[in-house]
Amino acid sequence: MGDAGGKGAFDAIVVGAGHNGLTAAAYLARAGLQTLVLERRPVLGGACVTEELWPGFQCSRAAYVAGLVRPAVVRELGLEGHGLRFLPRDPSSFTPLPEGGGLLLGRDEQANARSIGAFSRRDAEALPRYEAMLDRIARVIEPLLDAPAPDPARPRWADLLPLARAARGALRLRRELPEALGLLLGAARPVLETWFESEPLRGTLATDALIGAFASPSSPGTGYVLFHHVMGDTGGARGVWAYVKGGMGAFSDALAAAAEAAGATLRREAPVARILVAGGRARGVELVDGSVIGARAVLSCADPQTTYLDLVDAAELPEDFVRGIAALDMRSPVVKINAALDRLPVFRGHGEGPAAGPEHRGTIHVGALDLDALEASYVAAVGGELPARPMVEMTLPSVVDDGLAPPGKHVASLFVQHVPPGLSAERWDALRPEFARTVFAMVDEVAPGFSESVLDYEVLAPPDLERIFGLRGGNIFHGAMSLDRLAFMRPLPGHGRYASPIEGLSLCGAGAHPGGGVMGACGRNAARELLRKRR
Ligand SMILES: Cc1cc2nc3c(=O)[nH]c(=O)nc-3n(C[C@H](O)[C@H](O)[C@H](O)COP(=O)(O)OP(=O)(O)OC[C@H]3O[C@@H](n4cnc5c(N)ncnc54)[C@H](O)[C@@H]3O)c2cc1C
Repeated sequence: MGDAGGKGAFDAIVVGAGHNGLTAAAYLARAGLQTLVLERRPVLGGACVTEELWPGFQCSRAAYVAGLVRPAVVRELGLEGHGLRFLPRDPSSFTPLPEGGGLLLGRDEQANARSIGAFSRRDAEALPRYEAMLDRIARVIEPLLDAPAPDPARPRWADLLPLARAARGALRLRRELPEALGLLLGAARPVLETWFESEPLRGTLATDALIGAFASPSSPGTGYVLFHHVMGDTGGARGVWAYVKGGMGAFSDALAAAAEAAGATLRREAPVARILVAGGRARGVELVDGSVIGARAVLSCADPQTTYLDLVDAAELPEDFVRGIAALDMRSPVVKINAALDRLPVFRGHGEGPAAGPEHRGTIHVGALDLDALEASYVAAVGGELPARPMVEMTLPSVVDDGLAPPGKHVASLFVQHVPPGLSAERWDALRPEFARTVFAMVDEVAPGFSESVLDYEVLAPPDLERIFGLRGGNIFHGAMSLDRLAFMRPLPGHGRYASPIEGLSLCGAGAHPGGGVMGACGRNAARELLRKRR
């Protein structure tokens, strides 16, 4: 085992330079710990990266919009000083209709009311109240994101403050409390059907409940996923998501710069083969090239199954823990298509010409657009079928960030939900071109000629997300965000505070509380928890 854990060892090794791993490393290094980050890929950032997929075209290859980033991470690590710039999007969403026009939503309440009023005056009046309700609930929940999850089975003094804040907030909700519980514990569909009557609006809002989850709008727990996606106000207002100047990788770059400035060492193309354990304690890691590096603590940003089933010898872990980790739901129903475009799509009913309009700035919703269609595509996926009209979120970040594509050209992200999880890589080899044609044809319905504007594209199905980004099963959250796997139960009950049964080994990625998405919360909390223990 070489000098693992011995003299010359690091204080902490972080396995994986996902944005959470980089965040953890920055906090540890700032606290004076000798910190080493080991990333298997040549690029830092995990699923939060910008890559030049074709000459001159810079793509946010996996994650494509920022909305959940914790303000404390940006502030405490001085990320703006390391080049981070959010580009708020307004309007933030456009749902085009085949007959022309569509639903345009943004920060201007009066413009929203006019747009929604074309479908339902009642909905136009209800949306600001709905958003205010989400805002009030988010204010109760948000403090719980910035600390390890209080665990009722293992209470401790440090839990009291976040719990007291949440309890005080919950009491302030008063008559809204049952509605909040209904949202957090139930399905998205009844919530949306209670609030709204028009389908383009219900379908547009439902997308937040389904992104990344293998679920239909009627599945219990989708209310929480919906809610998870409206927390944070990176875009300047609740639920208004932002682009990052330079693509999502610029957020990871800023974190990497902050970590390095604080003294952390970052190594690319350094895949870890094993986490070394002796006497029940993590002692360091062995790389795939056979070299051994010692450390007093190991934090893993890889997902829980990769960490505990692949990198740790099963004999070092309790059997029931290994069984629980093996049983985690790592299924993924998503496909990401990245494309280089010759020109901007022209949506029916909107002006021709190269200039971008408000309809291009936000997330463009295409395909399955009403609640029944979303149910149908989920049912198709459960039966192992590709849905005929999947739900697609398209973004065109080069509209607000001209450094991403050559002059006049654009990059597009198309995030597609409800493919059957578990299709093999070989099956996808046969399916990719046809699947891309189906998705592009749905965009053609609302923006004729879109298919012909595609210069090049890549289709990343779940096996590709696993192969490229190391995401087990292609799951974008490092495991389902189901109610039984949140807070102190994430990844497993009794292990919600980042620590594992092995002393000195903890999780710092999205498989831990508060879960998936580009937030930085998992990395910050995990680092602070380790520092607290050292004290
Ligand atoms: C296609 C897609 C679209 C998404 N869209 C959005 C979005 O728009 N907005 C949003 O907020 N979230 C989005 N998400 C979710 C979000 O990107 C992830 O939940 C989040 O980035 C996870 O970050 P992480 O740092 O915890 O882990 P990861 O980003 O998964 O990082 C883990 C790192 O560990 C490395 N690693 C694994 N094993 C080893 C090993 N043995 N040795 C060394 N390194 C290893 C991996 O290479 C990787 O770099 C999306 C995800 C995907 C995949």
